Amino acid sequence: MSNEAGFFNLSIKNILSDEQSMLTQARIRLLYYGLFLVFFTVGAILLSVLFLNQPALVTMAGGIMLIIACLFKYLTWRGDWKLVAQILLILGTMINLIDAFIIFQKVDILSIQLVLMIIIFSFYMLGQNWGLLYSLANLLPVLLFMIYAYSNIYIISIRPQHIEQSTIIISVVANFIIMVYIHNHFYNAFLKNILQLKKTSEDQIRLNVNLELAIDKAEKSSHAKSEFLSTMSHEIRTPLNAVIGMSNLLMMGEPRPDQEENLEILKFSANNLLAIVNDVLDFNKIESGKVIFENIRFNLAELMHNICGGQIIKANEKGLIFKLKIDDALRNKIVIGDPTRITQIIFNLVSNAIKFTRQGYVEVKVSVLEDRHNQIIIRFSVKDSGIGIERDNLMAIFEPFTQESITTTRKYGGTGLGLAIVKRLLELRGVQMHVLSKPGQGSEFSFNLDLPVATEKLEEPAVQPAIDLEGDRDMDTLHILVAEDNMVNTMLMKKFFSKWRVQSSFAENGERAVEMMQYGNFDIVLMDLQMPVLNGFDAAIEIRKMADAQKASIPIIALTASALTDIREKVFSAGMNDYVSKPFKPEELKEKIITLVNRKAMTRPQSI
Ligand code: ADP
Repeated sequence: MSNEAGFFNLSIKNILSDEQSMLTQARIRLLYYGLFLVFFTVGAILLSVLFLNQPALVTMAGGIMLIIACLFKYLTWRGDWKLVAQILLILGTMINLIDAFIIFQKVDILSIQLVLMIIIFSFYMLGQNWGLLYSLANLLPVLLFMIYAYSNIYIISIRPQHIEQSTIIISVVANFIIMVYIHNHFYNAFLKNILQLKKTSEDQIRLNVNLELAIDKAEKSSHAKSEFLSTMSHEIRTPLNAVIGMSNLLMMGEPRPDQEENLEILKFSANNLLAIVNDVLDFNKIESGKVIFENIRFNLAELMHNICGGQIIKANEKGLIFKLKIDDALRNKIVIGDPTRITQIIFNLVSNAIKFTRQGYVEVKVSVLEDRHNQIIIRFSVKDSGIGIERDNLMAIFEPFTQESITTTRKYGGTGLGLAIVKRLLELRGVQMHVLSKPGQGSEFSFNLDLPVATEKLEEPAVQPAIDLEGDRDMDTLHILVAEDNMVNTMLMKKFFSKWRVQSSFAENGERAVEMMQYGNFDIVLMDLQMPVLNGFDAAIEIRKMADAQKASIPIIALTASALTDIREKVFSAGMNDYVSKPFKPEELKEKIITLVNRKAMTRPQSI
């Protein structure tokens, strides 16, 4: 520590700072005021021996005063308290030994006091190890000397000095004062330390309370954000349902070619908007830690073919070559994992590859890196010969709502959420995504997944009766109950049903649907989930509790505008058979209706 206030500034403030611990500060203060005290004590001794013709003692006292003054200066100048303490202790030890062995050649109360002071001072200033060392260095010779002194032989042939009683009194009193001072000083420091610890722990408690409040607030606001997004999604998806549904209906009505083109654009834009809403929702869900991974058995090779099926058409439309390479070892392997999330990841990567490639190829490769009996490490890679990514942007593209450049946004659209979702999903599984890319040459996104292998075979799905989706005649005889509170959706469904020539009845809320079930005869129920009075989940539970077994087992399909994947479990646990997410695809809804009605017909007891 340098003394900025000048060489002659001897203030203790130069060497104390807030960064030092309480103990260090106490040690520095002890040294600073202790040096003062020792200086004046030795000064008093010097005065008492000055007129008694004791040249050895005078010289020694003078020398000690000079050394103390130098140490004091050094301490206030450099602040190196450890070095000063060491020098002081060495000095004390030497005085002790010289006194006992040379000058007085005896061990008296003064020697004992000095030894005691050195022991206390070394422990307080330098800690246990140095304390022990200095204690031994001072105690052992004195003890040895006392044993030798029994025989009254002088170890060296110098006559011992005689010391006056007045000097002894001054020394004893001064030494006691120093000892009392050292103890008092350290006791104070010790008390202050305890008080500070108490204050720190009180501060800690206060901080913890504030932290808990802040966490609670953050959780509430995050919950409110999720709720808001989920409500918004419902609100946005409902009119979108109408837009997509209406464009489907218009397309079915054999429009003119120019109208067909406009309808295609309308449908494409609505689907695009839907994808954005779904992405935002999904990202929100991942961020709030609500993603639960499934562990189900599936054939990875088949899954890859299914994911890439639609993408191959898109790539071919752009004139790109699409290569799907699947390791032969995977052909008949059943793995355990979450096919929905794998689909989401691969779909995002392949969509990007197609989107950012103008010519050349897109290659999807799934290879086995390691095949242990019941565990397999698989490398997934999606490679393209597209526009590539600048080296500096390779990290940023994984941030939410970030695209490589503003030109990307203008040219290719998108929200910049796809890769953020992919990266976070993989991170939740402890997997890292790797990217290799060169601007103008293409990119490769890859990652490794460690999946358990199922030892038993996948159950073959029960053979379902063939369903004729082409003709509308299967549905002629059906009577469908629709529980739906939204007018536009009701209108839209009515149009579809009249096209399919099915009979339908509508309930504006869950309670009304349960009532209508009691009195009417229906083949299937389409149940909206968010409805006033009684929601779809509770209405389904009420229906399942009905006394009439036929009615209680009626097939129920949930209609949901929520894009969240956990809706599936909720729907099934409320006793419903399936769900269709709005805006629904007419063919999907039709297929599910027919499948469920046929399955019910097969389980119905046959009358003789
Ligand atoms: P989006 O596709 O909606 O823009 P993503 O998060 O999927 O959002 O991608 C972020 C950005 O990363 C893209 O805007 C694009 O700049 C860059 N990118 C992603 N995949 C590729 C690729 N295969 N080739 C070139 N750039 C890519």
